[in-house]
Amino acid sequence: MTRTRFAPSPTGFLHIGNLRTAIYAYAMAKHDHGQFILRIEDTDQERYKPEGIDDIKKNLTTFGLKWDEYYVQSERKKTGFYQKIAEKLVSQNHAFYCQCPAKNAKEEGFSSTLRDPCRDKKLTSGAIKLRVPDDEKISYFDFVLQKEVSWDTNTVYDATLLKTDGFPTYHLAAMADDLDMKITHILRGHDWMPSTPVHLLVFRFLTGNQPQIGHLTDIQSPNGGKLSKRRDSVFCEQFINDGYLPEAILNFVILLGWAPKDNRELFTLSEFVQHFDPKGFQKSNPLFTQDKLNWLNGHYIRQKSDIEITQLVKTLVKTNIPEDKITQLLPLIKDRLVKITDFVPLTSLFFEAPPVDLALFTDPAVSLEHLKSGVQHLSSIDNWTKQGLELGWTDEIKARGWKVGDYFMSVRIAICGSRQTPPTTDTMLVLGKDETLKRLETAIQSINNSS
Ligand code: GLU
Repeated sequence: MTRTRFAPSPTGFLHIGNLRTAIYAYAMAKHDHGQFILRIEDTDQERYKPEGIDDIKKNLTTFGLKWDEYYVQSERKKTGFYQKIAEKLVSQNHAFYCQCPAKNAKEEGFSSTLRDPCRDKKLTSGAIKLRVPDDEKISYFDFVLQKEVSWDTNTVYDATLLKTDGFPTYHLAAMADDLDMKITHILRGHDWMPSTPVHLLVFRFLTGNQPQIGHLTDIQSPNGGKLSKRRDSVFCEQFINDGYLPEAILNFVILLGWAPKDNRELFTLSEFVQHFDPKGFQKSNPLFTQDKLNWLNGHYIRQKSDIEITQLVKTLVKTNIPEDKITQLLPLIKDRLVKITDFVPLTSLFFEAPPVDLALFTDPAVSLEHLKSGVQHLSSIDNWTKQGLELGWTDEIKARGWKVGDYFMSVRIAICGSRQTPPTTDTMLVLGKDETLKRLETAIQSINNSS
């Protein structure tokens, strides 16, 4: 039975990199009808943020990543589970007590010197550290990178397993839990690669068994280097609030480091589970491409009904536009909706006349004639419907020797204030006769005033 876990530390909000690990771990388990475990790794109490747990759960739920089992390490710590294991390692001489001041430790709880000064002092209290054996080669086969990775233990520092406050470090807690929870595959970020030799030793000393381990590639930022929380947009919540659909974010993240044999690009979560193959993990670092995310978002938006999009607009955008008006406007702008929040800028022309931008007219003198003829044609219409508006109009335009496309571009600019807008007659129908004529007159006046 395949059992994978997502083991985030609740130190901040869930970002795209975490989400990717969770999706891959979920798909790997579910493809084999196995189990996906959520384990909160909150043993670093200084970095722990209580709201982080709710954010993790909320986001996993948003993306449909349902967990089968749930654990919190600080709760498990209360049972003495990690303490007992650390003490057992001391009694077996695989670990030792250390009383060096904490400031002497390197980052991630490694001793400041390769071999800790306390390792042969036979102390009976203090922090507990791993006794790394000398002169050994230690290796494992990485199932993501598809290669063997090895270290000489003479380069591996003694690492802290249990701190003086009784909390385990990641090196002990995660490995003890992975064994206890019968995890078959560990999928985690590449950052963990340097401490893997310590983890391999912990596995060996605890039971001699070890789950398979795979390190995911680093996501590259379009701004260069690794995607970074400080420089780049990375938080899942932020993408959702900006108007990206969970389906699109999920699909985008699936392709950040995994590809199927046939280069298919569109995947729902259940399709990904079905097609998942660990051979699809990519070995080179993927690039975060906003255009791809935008394209996927547009694709998933267009799969939705106008009623569904109306609800999304209502939820995401603070607007007092009534629901039926949103639904009425959607067909006019849906094709150009990249994000749900684009609804507001794309529809503002229906609520407020855009300023006349003379620079948009290729030839203002010709446009002036187009607009005057437009006013004449439209003011005589009583039947303000699509058929009513269009009846005989193109014939009139052609009779004057104008190109229909040029003519309608003039009208479009006058009414919508832009060259890229919803279909002009549909826009005029929504605006109504008075407002349409008013906008044409205003544009005529502006051209007159400028000449
Ligand atoms: N708690 C670790 C982190 O958030 C988890 C790494 C792992 O999956 O083992 O980076």
